[in-house]
Amino acid sequence: MRSEQWISELLAKLAREGLERRLAVHPADGAVCDFTSNDYLNLSTHPDVVAAMQAGTMVGSGASRLVSGTREIHQEFEQQLAAYFGKPAALVFGAGYLANLGLLSSYLGRNDTVFADRLVHASLIDGIQLSDARHQRFQHNDAAHLEQLLVKTGTTRKPGERWLVVVESVYSMDGDVAPLAAIAELAIEHDAQLLVDEAHALGVFGPAGRGVAAELDISDQVPLVTGTLSKAFGSYGGVVVASDFVRQLLVNRARPFIYNTALPPALLLAASESLRIIGSQAGLGDKLLELAAHFRRELHEQGLEVGPSASQIVPVMVGDNQQAVQLAEALHERGILVKAIRPPTVPVGTARLRFSVTLAHNEQLLTHTAQAVAEAARSIGQLE
Ligand code: PMP
Repeated sequence: MRSEQWISELLAKLAREGLERRLAVHPADGAVCDFTSNDYLNLSTHPDVVAAMQAGTMVGSGASRLVSGTREIHQEFEQQLAAYFGKPAALVFGAGYLANLGLLSSYLGRNDTVFADRLVHASLIDGIQLSDARHQRFQHNDAAHLEQLLVKTGTTRKPGERWLVVVESVYSMDGDVAPLAAIAELAIEHDAQLLVDEAHALGVFGPAGRGVAAELDISDQVPLVTGTLSKAFGSYGGVVVASDFVRQLLVNRARPFIYNTALPPALLLAASESLRIIGSQAGLGDKLLELAAHFRRELHEQGLEVGPSASQIVPVMVGDNQQAVQLAEALHERGILVKAIRPPTVPVGTARLRFSVTLAHNEQLLTHTAQAVAEAARSIGQLE
């Protein structure tokens, strides 16, 4: 249709630039070795997690939280989560994406300023935009640059202007870890609040998987924590962990909370069982991090560039968009499922394969995979 000409032009342009995206059905279980999943602890298929979900008596919640969607499991899970973090309160959202949108858009207004790492997740950026706050971006994981911006902006700070520093603890596309202690100190020194998205750290880093802030023993310096139940927890949904006041603010102001149907109880029953497992089985995260370290060493030995990864997320850097897609395809032919990550998800010129190591993998398999990556890269002329 003529009126849709612009769409076909846009799609053709994306294809020319190697940026077209297409949905693909996940191959049957066992058909490939899967490195695309954020189900880091393999809990989405854990028999106790599946059984907990099946023991429920309802799937959907039927209404939004403020209407009649708040069931006992919502209340219970939020209390469990707050206790787990040692914080006063928690609130679940329909997804991690919505948690970030909801928190940022209700916590900040147009007269406030956000200082965000330049690689923060799209959900944080969208939340900042929705808030209308002034947005300053500092170089990735660069506390010195953050300090420069705080000092410079301080000269024009108006009375009552709220400041918020926004970072992730583990970055989703590089797998590197933020210098949280230095960032938290700067936030305090400059009278700014601090939001840490621990989406990729929960269940993996810190004592009982409580995240990087807990690992560094600086949880009390991080007033606002967000995360997701869809990665290590193997379920679905988003979380904010904060003070009672912030929780009340969100219940009253966060549109992605107020106008979204309450998270299905079935998913919370599963998440609650995952929380019990993560909290009671010591060493799950450590085991995963050891596997990832093994994989990085093997990739390195093969002459592949893994960037600054220090977590279960291990990128193999390629650079060019089309070459990244080609490499992913060459690996698929070898029975390895991994996705090429391209702009705008990552900066231009830094396309990569993002390997997500999970407890479904083992050392032998990771060694074999590193060899296969090198072989595939050689076969298409990307490695000597
Ligand atoms: N924050 C980060 C850092 C993420 O990587 C993601 C998911 N990719 C989210 C938030 C959003 O979480 P969810 O998938 O639960 O919406």
